[in-house]
Amino acid sequence: MKRRIGITKNGLLYIAIALLGGILLAVILFNLLTGSTGVPKKLSMIENTELRTGPQAIYPVIYKVEKGDRFNIIERKGKWFYVSDKDKRKGWIAGWHTNLNITKDQPVRKNPFKGKTVLIDPGHGGSDQGASSKAGTLEKEVTLKTSLMLRDKLKAEGAHVVMTRDSDEYVKLKDRKGVADAFISIHSDALEESSPHGLTVYYNSKSQKPFADTLHLAIKEKTLLSDRGVRQENFQVIRQTKIPAVLVELGYISNPTDETMMNDKVYRQLVTTSIVDGVRNYFLY
Ligand SMILES: [Zn+2]
Repeated sequence: MKRRIGITKNGLLYIAIALLGGILLAVILFNLLTGSTGVPKKLSMIENTELRTGPQAIYPVIYKVEKGDRFNIIERKGKWFYVSDKDKRKGWIAGWHTNLNITKDQPVRKNPFKGKTVLIDPGHGGSDQGASSKAGTLEKEVTLKTSLMLRDKLKAEGAHVVMTRDSDEYVKLKDRKGVADAFISIHSDALEESSPHGLTVYYNSKSQKPFADTLHLAIKEKTLLSDRGVRQENFQVIRQTKIPAVLVELGYISNPTDETMMNDKVYRQLVTTSIVDGVRNYFLY
């Protein structure tokens, strides 16, 4: 009996030591996970700014934030904080507007287009006219006009631009690719029915989604056509390339409002300017 008690005492000691070690480890882990080791739980604003839907200035504003406003920090991503206010509304705030002593990011390059090549692909062409409307609008013409305007704007910004076609010629789908930093294929949708309308930005692989999202945000901000959002689709021209690539369906040629817009030079100015904005934002971050 005595021997057994002795062993049990030793055993208890080991268990106690193991328990203490475990508790210590748990405390350290808890601190690491909750950020008690240095990442603050709250922040307050030292100047007015905006609460945004994502951790970049290109994301839409949720509401205006004022100097002195206080937030709980949920998560940190780089110099941005995901926070919640007293009404549990959540969003992202740039750290340099807060009391957390964070310096603002300097844009990596002064001109984000410098040294960049953009490959523009005006859909269809030549014997392939693409979709057409009852009024006689041809997709291959809309895509070329829009693409040429986009080319001129990107060049004016300092980008190097390559076109898969710059006149009314037929180019095979498999040849609509090349070495570039970004690829934009321009098309317009069409259906038998005239009611569907709106602009869509398509990507194929997951790696292309950030480019599609950035471009879509910029287009949504400026254009008047209804927004069909960002969608994944198995189009050959974006599937056959590894570079950031999107296919923009400008609108429905089969919808009279969309058709009028696409044929309108002022509208094309809006769309191409917004695409340039999106490409700039993508190259900038
Ligand atoms: Zn098309």
